[in-house]
Amino acid sequence: MPQVTLNNGVRMPILGFGVFQIPSEQTEQAVTDALAAGYRLIDTAAAYQNEEAVGRAIAASGIPREELFVTTKLWISDAGEQAAKRAFDTSLAKLGLDYLDLYLIHQPFGDVYGSWRALQDLNRQGRARAIGVSNFYPDRLVDLIDHNEITPAVNQIETHPFFQRTTDQDMMRKRGVQLESWGPLGQGRDDLFTNPILTRIATAHGKTVPQIVLRWLIQRDIVVIPKTMRPDRMAENIDVFGFQLTGDDMTRIATLDTGASSAFDHHDPESVSWLGNLRLT
Ligand code: NAP
Repeated sequence: MPQVTLNNGVRMPILGFGVFQIPSEQTEQAVTDALAAGYRLIDTAAAYQNEEAVGRAIAASGIPREELFVTTKLWISDAGEQAAKRAFDTSLAKLGLDYLDLYLIHQPFGDVYGSWRALQDLNRQGRARAIGVSNFYPDRLVDLIDHNEITPAVNQIETHPFFQRTTDQDMMRKRGVQLESWGPLGQGRDDLFTNPILTRIATAHGKTVPQIVLRWLIQRDIVVIPKTMRPDRMAENIDVFGFQLTGDDMTRIATLDTGASSAFDHHDPESVSWLGNLRLT
């Protein structure tokens, strides 16, 4: 599995498995299947309410800890220096681990600066090998970088053919922040899987549309974490390293960009307020 090197030297697989919206009672099986298919990066979050099931699958796998790359995320209701440290301990206990590979601030809301001070401490102590953020638009990201000691290693943001984030990626490159795509398959929205441009490219390479999309992101040096419940699709989504998209393919996919989210508007006050008031049970 090809790796990217983060700004603190930590190496991270370029492709992993996401567990958003996998019900906790099905998560242990899904992660077990993903590990069997060869995935070594697992992306969860306190908000997904399935960290314990992820932990059980990891423990049962027998895979040496150092071969795995485990990410979880801090939810808004746990923002703040002390609360974030407590939330980190809770997540780690649920996962049954004694360190994380990557800990992310899930959303750019609440007491982000207090949370970041906590994450910096956890990183200095080696309890989180890398720390980063998620859903940070460029203004929030630059402000966080400019007023803190440690630059986030990763910004996990919605990135797919209909929302390509090329200027955001340029800015992050300059600042040493790795782009990790969430929703790499656009969460299946907007008929992505039957899009005519993607379908033509897929046919030309003897591949599927999901494989073309994941390959396109990887060729842009973007980390991808597709989610699926199905072992056949897990195998399909990881089988993206034996071919290369041409410059012409890349140019044609570039035409699909709408420049806007298909999932969530982080600038809409109602949406921000709704998210900020979600409580973990
Ligand atoms: P996604 O991976 O873009 O798409 C998942 C959807 O695509 C599911 O409906 C899945 O269905 C389907 N799918 C997957 N592989 C397929 C294939 N080969 N053929 C056909 N359909 C396929 O969306 P996502 O789960 O939202 O994003 C991926 C991960 O990013 C999440 O699991 C989570 O870890 C992370 N994420 C983070 C945030 C954040 O705020 N930081 C937000 C969203 C997601 P089946 O399961 O039925 O196969």
